[in-house]
Amino acid sequence: MSSFKRGLRNLGRNRSRNLLLILNRRRCCGVVKNIKVKEVSKEFSFGGQIVAALREATFDLEAGNFTCIVGPSGSGKSTLVNLLGGLEGPTAGEIFVGKIPLHRFSEKELTLYRRQSVGFIFQFFHLIPNLSAQENVELPLEFNGLPKARRAERARQCLEAAELGPERFHHNPKRLSGGEQQRVAIARALATNPPLILADEPTGNLDSRTGKAIISLLARLAREEKKIVLVVTHDRDTARQADQVLSIKDGIVSRVEHTA
Ligand code: ADP
Ligand code: MG
Repeated sequence: MSSFKRGLRNLGRNRSRNLLLILNRRRCCGVVKNIKVKEVSKEFSFGGQIVAALREATFDLEAGNFTCIVGPSGSGKSTLVNLLGGLEGPTAGEIFVGKIPLHRFSEKELTLYRRQSVGFIFQFFHLIPNLSAQENVELPLEFNGLPKARRAERARQCLEAAELGPERFHHNPKRLSGGEQQRVAIARALATNPPLILADEPTGNLDSRTGKAIISLLARLAREEKKIVLVVTHDRDTARQADQVLSIKDGIVSRVEHTA
């Protein structure tokens, strides 16, 4: 059995304890079948001007599907990811995470949602430099109040699932390659077993071979773990692997039909 599969199996074993314990206490639930985005707009006011970053976006994301979003710089990709991840609220429209109306959440509820339901992966990894790989992955579990011994066990399972060699677990980020750092970031995103994984240009800082490995890991995460995985990318090869491709231009989202 591959280490990825073994890691996933371990994640599954802990799922009922972890997810249900942490998430069901809240209105966010651990298993989310889909996200429905309905006519969502986001405006920013900047220097006295109104910038329409997103205009009446409507689309669905399904659990088990790997979705890519493509579009030129400044088209609204990060804005969209930030809205889905509860980093900001929409100016207009509705976002339903399962049955949960995210657009109605207070700041406090959004904080809980981010901690418990969303795994973020960024282009520049955003790992804490003075913590080891394992400690970086333990951090979100610490925020969620998991005891130390359980945190360590869980972090190692997630690092294994993200295919980081165990000999690297105690290395600080600066002793890891870009690809290894991104694997740690993926493990950290998996730590609380969130139903939603959002990756904003996760391979933008990697060589193409490593980038491909990271993308296939994210695709398998969607398909084998039945998570909702949304990846922002500039790469056409990456988009070709997706179950669904969304294109965004000047804040307008459209679905790209596969040409095979
Ligand atoms: P992308 O990720 O596709 O490069 P963004 O979502 O970052 O695009 O930005 C979309 C548009 O919204 C851009 O015109 C950007 O300048 C603007 N924008 C994004 N965030 C803010 C903000 N916090 N304040 C003002 N304008 C913003
Ligand atoms: Mg961006």
